[in-house]
Amino acid sequence: MKKGRVAVIECVQQIPCNPCASACPMGAITVGENITNFPHLNEEKCTGCGLCIAKCPGLAITVINKAFGESEASIDFPFEYLPLPKEGDLVDAVSRAGEPVCKGRILKVKNLAAYAGTTVISMAIPIEFADTVRSMKRLPNPAVEGA
Ligand code: SF4
Ligand code: SF4
Repeated sequence: MKKGRVAVIECVQQIPCNPCASACPMGAITVGENITNFPHLNEEKCTGCGLCIAKCPGLAITVINKAFGESEASIDFPFEYLPLPKEGDLVDAVSRAGEPVCKGRILKVKNLAAYAGTTVISMAIPIEFADTVRSMKRLPNPAVEGA
């Protein structure tokens, strides 16, 4: 993986889908003529802008920065659950399978109109878990628990 921010695409089902390719302003993602192909990422073209993250209906794209800090990496990931975390919160960082991996520190919570309801969360994690962590555990929802 190249240094700095770069997309990581873990699209595991050959479904007819390609919004990731049209979302990328750099032309870094290609699906090709056959829309059921797995997407291919050209890391050299990827600037790590993150525009593709919220466009993927499969929540399969993250942006990782292994050069975020001396001992920390950052990960930007899509999140569609409420309540949302706040900047500075310490949360449970989880793998793609939802298994707890380590603690993560919330850096930013981005809710842009262009993201159409999908929040993109930036989180700092220990660098050794950069290839494992892909999201955070859902936070308890007081509204539901109190019902
Ligand atoms: S992070 Fe930005 S540049 Fe990289 S693949 Fe996604 S949309 Fe393209
Ligand atoms: S948008 Fe997501 S699910 Fe669809 S092809 Fe791209 S990475 Fe796969």
